[in-house]
Amino acid sequence: AERPYIVGNWKMNGTRAMLSEARAIDRASQRHMKVEVALAPPFTLIHAVHREVEQIGVGAQDCHALTEGAHTGDISAAMALDAGAKFVILGHSERRTNHGESDALIRDKVAAAREAGLQVILCCGESEAQRDAGEAEAHVLGQLKAALPESDNASEWLTVAYEPIWAIGTGRVPTTDDIAAMHGAIRGLLTDMYGDAAAETRILYGGSVKAENAAAILALADVDGALVGGASLTAEAFLGIVYAA
Ligand code: 13P
Repeated sequence: AERPYIVGNWKMNGTRAMLSEARAIDRASQRHMKVEVALAPPFTLIHAVHREVEQIGVGAQDCHALTEGAHTGDISAAMALDAGAKFVILGHSERRTNHGESDALIRDKVAAAREAGLQVILCCGESEAQRDAGEAEAHVLGQLKAALPESDNASEWLTVAYEPIWAIGTGRVPTTDDIAAMHGAIRGLLTDMYGDAAAETRILYGGSVKAENAAAILALADVDGALVGGASLTAEAFLGIVYAA
């Protein structure tokens, strides 16, 4: 990719004490404009991080499929936008597993986010059993087909993140050949759905990305950036990836 996109997903981590990390990431990113950098803090920190930073993008980790109403504990896309988010991560495997999110629900969330004016980072990825059974590609493409609108100017608002479940937080990563093959298959699907504009849609890799493996992964064809969990929690670790990109 011409300008790699490196996104930190803080998951259920972070109190105001972590704002200094966001500020440090932002200041360094201002001096390293060849990489596009973003953070997705928990909902409770979106507004504070948004106020703290000047350069990097700020996003949410989920949103509800509906616009408002009696849904205790939930956050709508418009609320996330109002707090300072410009994008939302949807369909993360931890949401699919821990909250039973179906492809159909994720499709509704994608539509809601788009309607509210949020960019979307749509996650997909196979389990270890699916990979061992040779079903990884079919599973991942199925997830995307089920959650994406059929035709659209998707490159304007969509980023796809391929995150093999068995690589998340484990220190294990697929071979570079396997990453490149999956990203190529995803690019093919996006091109079938959206035509030539799909060349502009960014496809991120996620799962145990760190400074030591980032350069090799980000050099692969059709890898346009990374979605980073654990190594996004300190400025030192995250900037190691940004500098390697
Ligand atoms: P890790 O970088 O901790 O493996 O997490 C990846 C991820 O799930 C990002 O969304």
